Amino acid sequence: MELAIAYGAATDVGKQRESNEDSYVARAPLFAVADGMGGARAGEVASRLAVDTLVELCGECEGEPDDAVEILSAAAREGNRRIYEAAEHERARHGMGTTLTAVMLCGTRAATVHIGDSRLYRLRGGQLEQLTQDHSLVAEMVREGRLAADAAVVHPYRSVLSRALGTEPEADIDAQSIDVEVGDVLLLCSDGLSGPVSPEKLRKALGVTDPQKAARRLVDEALRRGGPDNVTAVVVRFLEGAQGGRQSVALDDDRRSEAASSPDDPSGVDGGSLGSTDDRAPRRRSWWRRGGR
Ligand code: CA
Repeated sequence: MELAIAYGAATDVGKQRESNEDSYVARAPLFAVADGMGGARAGEVASRLAVDTLVELCGECEGEPDDAVEILSAAAREGNRRIYEAAEHERARHGMGTTLTAVMLCGTRAATVHIGDSRLYRLRGGQLEQLTQDHSLVAEMVREGRLAADAAVVHPYRSVLSRALGTEPEADIDAQSIDVEVGDVLLLCSDGLSGPVSPEKLRKALGVTDPQKAARRLVDEALRRGGPDNVTAVVVRFLEGAQGGRQSVALDDDRRSEAASSPDDPSGVDGGSLGSTDDRAPRRRSWWRRGGR
């Protein structure tokens, strides 16, 4: 059976940050979210470099799904190299890095890469499944049984990453191939969404048929919960090919612009502004100075 897709995306600076250091792309077959870190606008630079590198290097999927995994992985590694190099060459950007969670569609498979604490979820048959593992200090403590999952949600070090793109010469990037089928919905998001908004709320919002409305609803939910961080949601819904190959395109040509769309506009997207430091960066960097893995 042929799969068609519809997709949408939304981002917002949130209510407590001065700038939006999240970047994303939603342009079939490529979907990605990156959440930058580093002061003096470096986080914004890092997340943008990561996403732009994927856009540059990941074209149409013409080969086998395994090829897509390799193409996407190679692009992510190249993004790591470019960020690391840019950071080395400019003192103000030293230590910058970003999360990266990306999907490249290829038939009924989807190649994924992931590093950091942005997330990929799949809604299938009403069940929401997190397909990525957070590379964060608290997530590791939870996996090792040293911290309860509900304590991790409010832990003061919850945004300290154990792995990131661009902070070291080589990045340890998770890569996998997942299957997708009619009715599935994929969500890529930054922790500004998955932190304040419960999985149950995510699940409900993803039930909205129009992916653009779903993405906007998710972002609005994070804002209602105080919008403590930049928040980004990319939503991809899989349809039967017979439904016309319809694509609801939310786009990304000017993601940095201030031009915000109305939540009901399926062809628009909100942009975050350029900006300065955020308070998460120093904590994340110090984890690296300690020789984080
Ligand atoms: Ca964030």
